[in-house]
Amino acid sequence: MTSPLHPRATLRPDRDKPVRQRHPWVFSGALARIDDAAEDGGLVDLLSAGGEFLARGYLNRRSQIMIRLLTWDAAEAIDDAFWRGRIGRACAGRVIPPDGAGRLVYSESDGLPGLILDRYGDWLVVQALTLGIETRKQQLARVARELTGARGVFERSDVDVREKEGLAPATGLLAGEEPPAELTFVESAFDDRPLRQIVDLRRGHKTGAYLDQAINRRRVGRWCAALGPGAQCLNAFAYTGAFALHLLAAGAAGVLNIDSSAEALATARRNLELNGFAPNDDDFHCANVFEALRGLRDRARRFDLIVLDPPRLAQSAAHVDRAARAYKDLSMLALKLLRPGGLLATFSCSGQISAELFQKIVFSAALDAGRDAQIVERFTQAPDHPVLLSFPEASYLKGLLLRAG
Ligand code: SAH
Repeated sequence: MTSPLHPRATLRPDRDKPVRQRHPWVFSGALARIDDAAEDGGLVDLLSAGGEFLARGYLNRRSQIMIRLLTWDAAEAIDDAFWRGRIGRACAGRVIPPDGAGRLVYSESDGLPGLILDRYGDWLVVQALTLGIETRKQQLARVARELTGARGVFERSDVDVREKEGLAPATGLLAGEEPPAELTFVESAFDDRPLRQIVDLRRGHKTGAYLDQAINRRRVGRWCAALGPGAQCLNAFAYTGAFALHLLAAGAAGVLNIDSSAEALATARRNLELNGFAPNDDDFHCANVFEALRGLRDRARRFDLIVLDPPRLAQSAAHVDRAARAYKDLSMLALKLLRPGGLLATFSCSGQISAELFQKIVFSAALDAGRDAQIVERFTQAPDHPVLLSFPEASYLKGLLLRAG
């Protein structure tokens, strides 16, 4: 099969190695020239400096990442069948129960750079992160709906990274029916007990919920159960209380949820009630976690299990040092609040902070807290957020479960 001829982009000499190693990004600095006929958002064939076909992808001259590669096979056409095939293959690789939630398409990791597709029960949520996906989003939403039988596809492209592609935020219905203002999905506890979570697909964080932590919530629940019934827990950066659900299902006597968003905490409370737990007013504290932890320390409060799941503190390489200090402060303060033998689940979702660096940060936190601690488990993002070996940049979430001495 021969594919239609595309305009060409040609690499500078000696810039072909990452492409041959199947890295899907081509930076502007690696390109010698681009045919005038090539349109932003359209397809280009990428050639080596010597004129050899290397790969095919879509172009955006406004982005530092000028080309995102889709195929390394000259005979593979980027047509309807291509997109359907890639989305279908990604969906087939997921294990998500019908009433559950999970990521169906994770961008580069699924050979679909710029496309995020999450399922919440009968509904799909799309993020179009690049111009190449933006120009095709209606078509891709229709295909996704056909493949999954979803009732509707809602767009949540209200993310800052789109600026780098010259795109404004965009939200709204892309295909099928409007989703309801609020829906619930099931996220099973460590013992498979179903826990229901409320999600607002229009206004919730990310595509509605933090699906990347689903597997870690189950694991932390198991550790809580292992402590025995009656554990006193602290859920810092609680959002809508997803970790709290798992801790209570595992037999915790109480969970103090701290978040700076009163609205998120109100949903957290409803989530706990929805699952038959009976929270008190004292279980929700709307505050800055950094200050709240100091306050708890000053009042000599102690906990058996603490979850620290802050937002991304290092937005870019320039913020790594400052973020490292913040991660260290959080873990240090939390370790001081743990009873002997208590557990700390501490996370970072900053791609700029490696798992190795995070461990060093947590070590220095333990030194400053004056507590010995063992690593009893390492966490990473849920398996529906896979990482291509050729694209390790997709790995961003790391966490440690520590047992304090
Ligand atoms: N653990 C949650 C996700 C946490 S997302 C889950 O499993 O679903 C991070 C949360 O931190 C958001 O809800 C945000 O409102 C909150 N947040 C951000 N900065 C904060 C701060 N300095 N103090 C308290 N909460 C903060």
